[in-house]
Amino acid sequence: MKKKWYSDGIQFECQGSGQCCVSHGEYGFVYVTQKDRRAMAKLRGLPTREFTKQFCVKEEGVFRLIDGADNACVFLKNKRCTVYSARPAQCKTWPFWPETMTPKAWARDVAAFCPGVGKGRIWPQAEIDANVEEHRKWEHDLTHGK
Ligand code: SF4
Repeated sequence: MKKKWYSDGIQFECQGSGQCCVSHGEYGFVYVTQKDRRAMAKLRGLPTREFTKQFCVKEEGVFRLIDGADNACVFLKNKRCTVYSARPAQCKTWPFWPETMTPKAWARDVAAFCPGVGKGRIWPQAEIDANVEEHRKWEHDLTHGK
């Protein structure tokens, strides 16, 4: 099998910049499955239905979080995620998404703006691939109304 470009791992550690929580380019919205909504609703002490009504909008059959101020996620306050322990899978798996894991996309969409790249620990390939796979499953759930 062909060696992946990140077979030696990637150095990355979230610096809490909140950059990835602000709409940029094609990564405009935070999409949420029912599992994501349930987890955030629980954290905020709301029934899932109420949480969805207050914080989500459905477009083309898929739920996403509403925007807050300045194109940022509604849960970003003072550059901090206020639902961090229950944040959606889209956020948990960042920056290791199927669409970011090509050398070109990584350089353009991640390394160019995320201050976590090149900091902290080295993520081994297996861990990166597990994240990519989790993101794929989440995307499947999302597009199948789960
Ligand atoms: S849910 Fe949290 S981690 Fe995800 S985009 Fe919003 S503020 Fe950022």
